[in-house]
Amino acid sequence: MFLVDGHCDTLHGMLIKNEKFSKNSLQIDYETLIKCSKNGILQFLAIFESPSNPMEKQKADVRTMIDLFHKVTDEFNIKKVLNKSDLNGTGIKVLLSLEGLYFMEGNVDMIDSLYDDGVRCMSLTWNPDNEFSGGVNGDSGQGLSDKGSLLVKKAFEKGILLDVSHITDKGFWDIAEEAGKYKKPFVATHSNSRKLCGHKRNLNDKMLKALAKAGGVSGINMFTCFLSDNCEAGIDDVIKHIEFICALTGPEYVGFGCDFDGIDKTKSAVTGPEALQVILERLLQLNYPENAVNGIASENFLRVLSKVLD
Ligand SMILES: [Zn+2]
Repeated sequence: MFLVDGHCDTLHGMLIKNEKFSKNSLQIDYETLIKCSKNGILQFLAIFESPSNPMEKQKADVRTMIDLFHKVTDEFNIKKVLNKSDLNGTGIKVLLSLEGLYFMEGNVDMIDSLYDDGVRCMSLTWNPDNEFSGGVNGDSGQGLSDKGSLLVKKAFEKGILLDVSHITDKGFWDIAEEAGKYKKPFVATHSNSRKLCGHKRNLNDKMLKALAKAGGVSGINMFTCFLSDNCEAGIDDVIKHIEFICALTGPEYVGFGCDFDGIDKTKSAVTGPEALQVILERLLQLNYPENAVNGIASENFLRVLSKVLD
């Protein structure tokens, strides 16, 4: 089965640990991606940069990670997903995403050069607030600012996928409203069910239903603290979250957003992308129809991207 994983922080891991892409000590490297699926995988590669770093360092690191993305794809001849047509076919593919836009300092116009740099998915915030919106751990609890609304509109118009995984609940609903106006889907690249695990990074039932109504997807996160309240979780808990969302919204609105290399390895419910096939096998054994399992594996995310990308 072809796979899509909507979130990993491998670029950041490579930057801070000075690791190579071919084979490294992280959860994701080229060798693992080749091994994890016979038909290949579309791996979202996120650019994460801590907003607590000095602004000049943030800007420089973001630039370095953009360059790293292009260097790696050139070196290994990996397909970059930039347009709808890049979604056809199998093999190893990558999509460049941004996790938090602190380095933009509220400059909406920067979205044009970021698009030219290959960015096709963005979350306005990581955990703290910024000029665009409140973040999930911020003090404000606010939704989109005027600048944030403008940025969201530009993203929908340019064909950049919007990710609500780290935004406030209010920010979620602001983006859902905008998505309704544009009749475009949006995603939570790496969030689970808040009913099953009460962490605020997860989505409540109303949010999961709104995401589905917009045609979007929530990517199941493998971080144990987003899977169970006591931070102890394994494959069974991953299956529980998938089953819960399938029952709530239908299987068309669930995918994977594993968060590999963004979480402490010891707090990852599974070892790495090679475990995804095991999860999909389990779903087939539970009598989920093959087309539903294919949807979770990749088709749901691919449907969203085909509606958003140019
Ligand atoms: Zn994250």
